[in-house]
Amino acid sequence: MTKNLVLIGYGGMGTRHLGRLKDVKEIHVQGVFDTDLNKLEAAAAAGYNTYLTLHAVLEDPQVDMVLIATPNDSHKPIAIAAMRAGKHVLCEKPVTLSVNDFKEMLQVAKDTHRCLMVDQNRRWDENYQMVRKVIETGAIGDVYEIRNTVQGSRGIPGDWRRNAAQGGGMVYDWCVHLLDRILLLKAQQHVALTSVYADLSYVLGHEVDDGFKVTLKFADGMRALLEVGTANFIKLPEWYVAGTTGTMQIDDFELHGKVVNLTGELAKDAIPVEAGAGFTKTMAPRTDGSIIEHPLPEVHPDVRDWYRNFVAWIDGKAEPAVKNSEVLWTLQVIDMIFASAKADQVIHVDQAAAIHAIA
Ligand code: NAD
Repeated sequence: MTKNLVLIGYGGMGTRHLGRLKDVKEIHVQGVFDTDLNKLEAAAAAGYNTYLTLHAVLEDPQVDMVLIATPNDSHKPIAIAAMRAGKHVLCEKPVTLSVNDFKEMLQVAKDTHRCLMVDQNRRWDENYQMVRKVIETGAIGDVYEIRNTVQGSRGIPGDWRRNAAQGGGMVYDWCVHLLDRILLLKAQQHVALTSVYADLSYVLGHEVDDGFKVTLKFADGMRALLEVGTANFIKLPEWYVAGTTGTMQIDDFELHGKVVNLTGELAKDAIPVEAGAGFTKTMAPRTDGSIIEHPLPEVHPDVRDWYRNFVAWIDGKAEPAVKNSEVLWTLQVIDMIFASAKADQVIHVDQAAAIHAIA
């Protein structure tokens, strides 16, 4: 049955949600609430019904669900109030700034029998789906390293994202996505996380991190390197996936890239080549036809499935596409990332917890 939704937070992400919801027939946008009157005026000018207070939204019996797209520190109180008022909740990431806060939200969801799902929308990114397809089809052999790098040169936007109390910084912004995707991939392979090492950058002088490098190691020996930077004027490839018989690279958001596969022998002696002031046989390029280049695979994810799945979950027709147990584990690993960076030490992950997380 169609559900009536109110968007809380008519900002950058909120307006994107409204655009996507135009194609989701399972959801009717009942209205918009924002604490900023200018935003409410803009929403009204765009043709949306507006609510002047959160209370008015929560009192409206027509409203089945809310979608929270406000700054990170405000998710928890809004979500808890909404669930207590009988509304189901879709919430932006990071769902909260602490594991305990999220546990509190989960308890309220349980007590009120409401559905709560977090927007880990980048699971539906084409580039991530391409990486998954290449790994899952075994196209490059055993994958021993995944690098996911997102870089820009515009610093941190000059709003609440620079403010620690509001959950600013790149760990709460991008790492939540990159981590969620890698942990999901390995959980679905039933492979536990074994260690975390993180280095955060503060090169732009804000109180929050403007970038990070995170190394994750898994029980099968695979390593994931997650990196974000906001002062990078030349970008590294967004994805670099190394397997025993091939390599995949996705250069950018526009999905330029390729897969290169071995067709001949892995170890084949080459004629040494001049390299800088020396020479090398080990690193000599393959010129003998023993590798072949393929285009990136075709994938057709639709992020609107996230909203459709939520309605199906409410109606008891589907399991949630983003499970709260997965979100909780991601928040727990985020804590390890902050702890590792603070101590400049590798965090060895409790194996009972890691195995529980992928069970
Ligand atoms: P934004 O600053 O553009 O918009 C936030 C809006 O919320 C503003 O209009 C503000 O007036 C309003 N607001 C603030 N406090 C409020 C409150 N208590 N009640 C109602 N309205 C309130 O921020 P944004 O970029 O849209 O980010 C919002 C959320 O979306 C954040 O949690 C962010 O992490 C997330 N986000 C997710 C993605 C994604 O891809 N999933 C992308 C961008 C942002």
